[in-house]
Amino acid sequence: AIPLVIAVITSISAKNGLLIRNRTSFEGARNIDVVVFDKTGTLTKGEFGVSDIVTFGGWKEDELLRDVAAIETNSEHTIAKGIVKKAKEKKLDLPKVENFSSLPGKGAKARIQGKQIFVGNKGIFEIAEVSSTDDAQKQANEFASQGKTLVFVASENKIQGIIALSDIIRDESKEAIKRLKKQDISVSMITGDNQATAKFVADQLGLDSFFAEVLPDKKSEKIKKLQSEGRKVAMVGDGVNDAPALAQADVGIAIGAGTDVAVETADVVLIENDPRNVLDIIRLSAINHRKTVQNLA
Ligand code: ADP
Ligand code: MG
Repeated sequence: AIPLVIAVITSISAKNGLLIRNRTSFEGARNIDVVVFDKTGTLTKGEFGVSDIVTFGGWKEDELLRDVAAIETNSEHTIAKGIVKKAKEKKLDLPKVENFSSLPGKGAKARIQGKQIFVGNKGIFEIAEVSSTDDAQKQANEFASQGKTLVFVASENKIQGIIALSDIIRDESKEAIKRLKKQDISVSMITGDNQATAKFVADQLGLDSFFAEVLPDKKSEKIKKLQSEGRKVAMVGDGVNDAPALAQADVGIAIGAGTDVAVETADVVLIENDPRNVLDIIRLSAINHRKTVQNLA
């Protein structure tokens, strides 16, 4: 009888847009009491558009965009794609880039026409050995309070500018969170993005808590910490940087459109990229449990 239950649940799951990769983890989903969502690409669409460009050091806006886009051509990050797209729309000629290297969880650096350029979040300040200015700080605060993601540009020992990008919160995220909270499941968010931007998204979605400015290798530690407090944790993510956290969680859930690494690490995959399907996982695992127990009796 049990294999039949498995077959039925698997087929219902598929109809609900779920791909179960690890049955044991799926079966435990009914006991989840906290769901941690990644921000970019999970609660949001992860499609960044450039909304503002400001410069401080005398560079022209198009110059700044051109150099940054040239560097970001080498990067896989969705932020990078948004910047490159903007430069293409403006039909800017991208200069040659040398010595590109990515700075995980922070950004990237490279050399253009002899100039060393750093792009990314405020984590690059230390690497570029620049300090923030009042001007930059004021602009950054303003953009971040609007929920925008910031890319700082540092070169020649100072901050040359900021590129602000906006992402789109998935329509489904709000409802998913409301329904989870109704079931007394706490809902949290984890992101590498800055504090103020994360707060904006957390407020919009009514999240119970959030962790911001978390470096890629530290996401799984946050999950471990929750587990050490006796919580049963589901983690939902899409990125390469989410994979260790997905592996650590009691139930690791990947957004179907996510990276291969995330999908291959997850216990359950959301085929429709719809965070509401997390509730179906919990519901189906409860049904599965009742059926299994019935069949055993
Ligand atoms: P997230 O947790 O937001 O999905 P990551 O851990 O990959 O993302 O990156 C964390 C942060 O590092 C991003 O929010 C961004 O501020 C910065 N970052 C990473 N890669 C880049 C890049 N190629 N260009 C600019 N900023 C970047
Ligand atoms: Mg992500």
